[in-house]
Amino acid sequence: MLTINIILLISLFFGNIFNTPIADKKEIESNLDSWNEFDLQNPEELGNYFEGDLINPKFGRNGLVDTASRWNKGIIPYEISRNFQTQDKNVILQAMNVYSKYTCISFRPKTPDDKDYISITNYNNGCWSQVGRQGKKQEVNLQSPQCTKKLGTSLHELMHAAGFLHEQNRNERDDFVTIKWDNIKDDRERNFDKAEEGYEQGFGVPYDFVSVMHYSSYAFSSNGERTIITKDPKNLDKIGQRRGFSIGDIMKINAMYDCPEKTQQLNLTGDIIETLTNNNGNQKEQERNTLWEAVNNFFSIFDE
Ligand SMILES: [Zn+2]
Repeated sequence: MLTINIILLISLFFGNIFNTPIADKKEIESNLDSWNEFDLQNPEELGNYFEGDLINPKFGRNGLVDTASRWNKGIIPYEISRNFQTQDKNVILQAMNVYSKYTCISFRPKTPDDKDYISITNYNNGCWSQVGRQGKKQEVNLQSPQCTKKLGTSLHELMHAAGFLHEQNRNERDDFVTIKWDNIKDDRERNFDKAEEGYEQGFGVPYDFVSVMHYSSYAFSSNGERTIITKDPKNLDKIGQRRGFSIGDIMKINAMYDCPEKTQQLNLTGDIIETLTNNNGNQKEQERNTLWEAVNNFFSIFDE
């Protein structure tokens, strides 16, 4: 009996750290409901998982050092929920295409022979992923339409699945950014813990303000003020972008997956590879919202 109690206690403890406590699901839902693409925070920064959007992370920072968490030959088999609208699914598939074009990670639909694979889900509880290959099935959640609004959110969560953590938590980050602790929500300070020296693997890429893995300046703000500012003001508006991979992201992925030559072959210039999402998709999105509002208005008659 005692053993069972201990196991129960342990699972409750880890359940609270790594999974969503039931009370907090409401918080995520309401955060995501009120989010729109012009918000200063990214939707993956609205979760109350570890660092906002990580499920059950192993120790390490930036790129996981543990090679066991990498995907064999950079191939990530996937399945995707039928519960996505076509335009939202297209954004995710487009993100996968960007991986194939610029990195030696590729995604392909899973076959019955694939033991390890990601399952892309559309649960109503935010944008989140595990970090690196876990073995067997692992979920990457992209709640639509919030997490599929910007291509970079799909790139971000898939990059967690590939084995990367958040850029601003690198060990040397204090040389580049200042964390404004007073502006962070009371119970979210640990999202800004930095890596211990020696635990991180930046693959030789310097601190990258434009990484798709960098928090926005307002991440986990309690008061609408910035929680991260850059030492050099000219970098301030760069952090938190979700328009596309940075050159640094591409270099890191290709270094982790042993194909640094791929980066050289691409002959990249600038600092971000911007990939615009398809205009027809956006137009459909607006039409869908209008229809949704009409349906809501119709039913609200009965609420009065
Ligand atoms: Zn993240």
